[in-house]
Amino acid sequence: MYPDERRILMTPGPVVFSIDTLRYMLSTVYEHTSLDFALIYGEAVRKFRRVVGARDGVPTFIIPGSGTLAMEASLVNTVKPGSRVLVVSHGYFGDRWARIASSNGYDVKVLEAEPGDIVGEDVIVGELSKSRYEAILVNHVETSTGVRADIEGLARVARKFDSLLVVDGVSSVAAEPLECSNWGVDVVLTASQKALETPPGLALISMCTEKALEAYGEASKNVKGFYLRLSEWEKVMRAYEEGRISYYATPATHLVVALERSLEKILREGLENRVKRHAALAKTLRAGLEAMGLKIVARGEEIAANTVTAAYTPPGVNPSELRSKMTTRNVIIAMPLHPALRDKSFRIGHMGSVNANDIISTIAALERTLKTLGAEIELGSGLKAAQETLVNLNL
Ligand SMILES: *Cc1c(COP(=O)(O)O)cnc(C)c1O
Repeated sequence: MYPDERRILMTPGPVVFSIDTLRYMLSTVYEHTSLDFALIYGEAVRKFRRVVGARDGVPTFIIPGSGTLAMEASLVNTVKPGSRVLVVSHGYFGDRWARIASSNGYDVKVLEAEPGDIVGEDVIVGELSKSRYEAILVNHVETSTGVRADIEGLARVARKFDSLLVVDGVSSVAAEPLECSNWGVDVVLTASQKALETPPGLALISMCTEKALEAYGEASKNVKGFYLRLSEWEKVMRAYEEGRISYYATPATHLVVALERSLEKILREGLENRVKRHAALAKTLRAGLEAMGLKIVARGEEIAANTVTAAYTPPGVNPSELRSKMTTRNVIIAMPLHPALRDKSFRIGHMGSVNANDIISTIAALERTLKTLGAEIELGSGLKAAQETLVNLNL
């Protein structure tokens, strides 16, 4: 039940967080009405804005909950009930947008891509030209297939058609390029346990543009229910930022401390360096997998994500057997999520503190495991390609 062997966690969330983060998190019990905690919370809010490229002072929320809560809260607080919304779906989490919107009574239209592909800008423009949509809902990285949407391009399109762009950045924030205010991405949301290198349990949202502020000002007044009312949480966020105490519902105190430390680490590495590191390691992994003869789900390098890779299993290899045999070799990979990819693919997460050693160990364990499972793999083929990629990248 409690594994005592050292393991390499290669899942797309949760991810390993640093000992430093853990140390601060457990150093004491922070009480949510103490000034110390208010100061830490305020710092976390300010640092999060910098990580997503949000203008100073825009409404930003860090509340207890998972990424799914961040999706739902973003939507219901910025788009009036009953509005038409366009979901651009690249897989499992895109479909989650559609389900969240439908269950909240929005009029939903879904544009879908084949697994491993993204919906073309022409298709989106075509749909927006036909009818008016209050909002466009999309995932920056689709974690079920390992593809990245062109968010900067979508922001231009959304502005042209006067639709609000709400971006689920759960698998992208702090590992893919993003400047939400400059790009005109209206609303960005994420969760703590992915590229933010923090334990699960926090939902994060930023309202990045003037348009988002207007939409939020209107829609948040009419939010049904209690917990998801961001206009109430905003008072708490403002108070903490100003070093005052306030209360709406008890914040996840330990997680906020962990988050503040992780955000500090992220900003110290530098966003540009961080994105570069993720991109280089993602490229290395894919070079290794392809050289082993495996096929990557993402249609091409230009849309392949920095944070997660899905690949097809070789003929005759069952994904759950692959995962369990990899686990006995102390490398944890993830199962397929996309309905069309079940039984024939697997996923590797490479976000957060991932380094070249993790990638090399994963490829090595994968070669041995697949060989043992009867796949035609030449031992060393993936490793050689990965090593060469790392040398070329000077890593
Ligand atoms: C993980 C993930 C989610 C869901 O987050 P939870 O914290 O599990 O609710 C949503 N969107 C994307 C893109 C994800 O990767």
